[in-house]
Amino acid sequence: MTHQHTPVLETARSRLLRLVRLGQTHVGTGVFARRKLKSGIVLGQIEGTVLDEHPADSSYCMELQGGKVLEPAPPLRFVNHSCDPNCEIFYWFDEDLGTQDDLLWLQTIRCIEPGDELSIDYCWPADAAIPCRCGASNCRAWIVDPDELHLIPSPADPMLSKRTH
Ligand SMILES: [Zn+2]
Repeated sequence: MTHQHTPVLETARSRLLRLVRLGQTHVGTGVFARRKLKSGIVLGQIEGTVLDEHPADSSYCMELQGGKVLEPAPPLRFVNHSCDPNCEIFYWFDEDLGTQDDLLWLQTIRCIEPGDELSIDYCWPADAAIPCRCGASNCRAWIVDPDELHLIPSPADPMLSKRTH
């Protein structure tokens, strides 16, 4: 049955590439909608390499259940953070595959217009937070889990005092 498995995966990937493309944003590479996407569309699996530990030189890793992390592959590696995201990641454990690793999938949570950038809320822990430049009207000023925002000290940071909305 192995020979039937690969074409299915390729179809999912080619479908994803019909829906999104990479492009440049003010924070680097981002993922953009090629066409109008309705809310609740499952765009595709976030593929990549499952690692036992978070590599020190990667800011893309996503946490999996059981302490492992996923180093995501393009294109979905490049989905940027927003405090007002239009997509979200959901975890799905595929019993048929029989692996211990859960799978990460990306779905839209709002209607997205052609050319709009796709974004998710990274919800990083406070000790990993960095200043946010997402530009959303409800921007938290930090890329951080909303529940941990209060753990971040508020220094006299010029980036924060300049912040407007
Ligand atoms: Zn923000």
